[in-house]
Amino acid sequence: MVKVGVIGVQGAVSEHIEATKKAMENLGVNGKVFWLKKPEHLKEIDAIIIPGGESTTISRLMVKNGLFDVVKKLGEEGIPIMGTCAGLIMLSKEVIGATQEQKFLELLEIKVNRNAYGRQVDSFEAPLKLAFSPEPFIGVFIRAPKIVELLSNKVKPIAWLGDRVVGVEQENLIGLEFHPELTDDTRLHEYFLKKAL
Ligand code: GLN
Repeated sequence: MVKVGVIGVQGAVSEHIEATKKAMENLGVNGKVFWLKKPEHLKEIDAIIIPGGESTTISRLMVKNGLFDVVKKLGEEGIPIMGTCAGLIMLSKEVIGATQEQKFLELLEIKVNRNAYGRQVDSFEAPLKLAFSPEPFIGVFIRAPKIVELLSNKVKPIAWLGDRVVGVEQENLIGLEFHPELTDDTRLHEYFLKKAL
């Protein structure tokens, strides 16, 4: 039984829960997915998803609800964590455009620019290339951050928009600029789940 918690303080939580359930079905995995709101929900957990939303709010609420330090420690200990959009910002080591009150988990050795796509291209969809699957993946970008630098050779690209890296993994961690939970395609959730099996 694999237990996945979606950090449920703010953002696209239920969509990630649905996508993870579907990915479990596709993989034939017996599992449970739940909203993760309090530190006691982190007991006996096998994987964590940090959704998109607004990273200042997610950061503030994770600290307030006592989740921040425990999630950071679990990530350091090797528990699989996937961050999408604002969740990617939360995982990152360096953030351009952060507000003063924002705290980051600093687990993923990349530099991101928080609101890099700007207002003109606020939101868009585009086909992406994946490292582990031949078919293109439709990436949904919503006021997305941009991965501007990989800071360590432990970080491997797993998704590209043209020749730009838009998704990475680093051992137990996955960070995506886009929202895989807003499509019916569960390949990235399946790829992530395999880290927890
Ligand atoms: N740019 C947003 C932030 O800084 C993230 C947007 C998203 O998650 N869709 O939090």
